[in-house]
Amino acid sequence: MDRDNISKFDHCYGCGVCVAVCPVNIIDFKENEMGFYSPYIESPEKCINCGLCLKICAFNHAQIATEDEVDIRAFAAYSKNELIRQRCSSGGIGFEIGKLMIERGYKACGVRYNPTLRRAEHFIAETTDEFRPSVGSKYIPSFSSEAFSEINRKEKNLVTGTPCQIDSFRRMIQHFKVEDKFVLMDFFCHGVPSLLLWNKYLSEIESKIGEATFVSWRNKTTGWQDSWSMCADIDAESLDWHNSYNLKIRGKKHLYQSRMSEGDLFYKFFLGNYCLNECCYKDCKYKMCISAADIRIGDLWGKTYSNENNGTSAVVAFTPIGLEIISHLAKSTCSVQEIPVVTATEGQMKAPANEPWVKDSILKSLKTDKTLSSIAMKWCRIYQTSIIPKRAFNKFRRIIKK
Ligand SMILES: Cc1cc2nc3c(=O)[nH]c(=O)nc-3n(C[C@H](O)[C@H](O)[C@H](O)COP(=O)(O)OP(=O)(O)OC[C@H]3O[C@@H](n4cnc5c(N)ncnc54)[C@H](O)[C@@H]3O)c2cc1C
Ligand code: SF4
Ligand code: SF4
Ligand code: SF4
Repeated sequence: MDRDNISKFDHCYGCGVCVAVCPVNIIDFKENEMGFYSPYIESPEKCINCGLCLKICAFNHAQIATEDEVDIRAFAAYSKNELIRQRCSSGGIGFEIGKLMIERGYKACGVRYNPTLRRAEHFIAETTDEFRPSVGSKYIPSFSSEAFSEINRKEKNLVTGTPCQIDSFRRMIQHFKVEDKFVLMDFFCHGVPSLLLWNKYLSEIESKIGEATFVSWRNKTTGWQDSWSMCADIDAESLDWHNSYNLKIRGKKHLYQSRMSEGDLFYKFFLGNYCLNECCYKDCKYKMCISAADIRIGDLWGKTYSNENNGTSAVVAFTPIGLEIISHLAKSTCSVQEIPVVTATEGQMKAPANEPWVKDSILKSLKTDKTLSSIAMKWCRIYQTSIIPKRAFNKFRRIIKK
């Protein structure tokens, strides 16, 4: 018999919005065996076949929720508050938008890291102080369903998240005809790595520094140096990147810091695309300027901003409310300069990541007690060797093109 609910999918984005929408509350949200959050129908016999979960599910639709032609405007922006800029991943615009919306009487739903549960999770803030833990990117999947279920659709809310989370969220507020109460913000999204990676990485570090009490994925306190010498997995095209992938973990006994450029293993697996969610390779329709949000934020990479080392955000406004928010920030707390859309997207991924053929073997190994470095030595090395001829050919093609 055909199943008329989300249980017909064998994988999905894991956005968590179907959990919030089910009128009989039978959808649970748990980590699956590959280390990604997935929805599960707990008591299938209780499903009333209302079809809502499928209607709001971004994975179930080929198009994004806002199909109309939109007038896209792009900006380079950063917070004038040095402390905010210092603590955020790029220019601190994510936080400034949240702060402004809270001042306007909105609640703000963002993502914080919960060290007790070792997870990133969406939460709802009512004050600027409560919104502070949302600062900084957490490069792991976020546990979204609880906060999404708690959002009061009758109130004004800012909701932030990955583009796939926001696409489903837009469908939900369209369905309930409450779009005018919401402002949605997403970001240019590389993809999310498996929690199997994060748990193994963290356990290895915790054995040296004690239980982690704080994690910052893009820590700026020791600057963004410009040495890429140890980072074999980065190819020539990526050299316009800032050296900002600097993981800092405070343990109960010691402080730990590790940069991607110096061979950090979490970043090697994450940005080397070795263990992203299946949908990030096969089903992502949100690259460049494809978004169901009002505003998209990101890092301003690319040649134009390669010497800017304090962090500048790329901001794209897709809707009149998005544009109004940026214009307000320009007159108050932020430095904002309009730039061509091509400059804003210069360093962004143009298409979903390529799935390395070693991915499944890596995910399997992450479930064993092998160390991360032994998994990297075996599988990343085998993969790198297998693609050397392809890289050489691409380099040759780039030289000819130039
Ligand atoms: C998994 C992931 C992949 C990313 N990929 C890219 C990319 O390819 N290119 C690019 O330019 N930028 C990417 N970003 C965004 C980038 O890291 C910065 O967040 C962005 O530049 C904004 O920085 P900021 O200083 O303005 O704000 P920040 O203070 O960094 O604001 C971050 C915002 O993102 C939200 N957030 C944090 N972690 C998560 C999470 N795990 N899931 C959902 N929402 C979260 C927070 O609620 C907050 O609102 C990615 C972020 C994440 C979490
Ligand atoms: S709504 Fe989100 S979590 Fe639910 S099935 Fe669709 S993609 Fe998966
Ligand atoms: S069809 Fe309706 S009742 Fe059944 S799981 Fe989906 S939302 Fe819940
Ligand atoms: S890469 Fe695409 S599918 Fe993967 S988390 Fe980001 S928006 Fe979702």
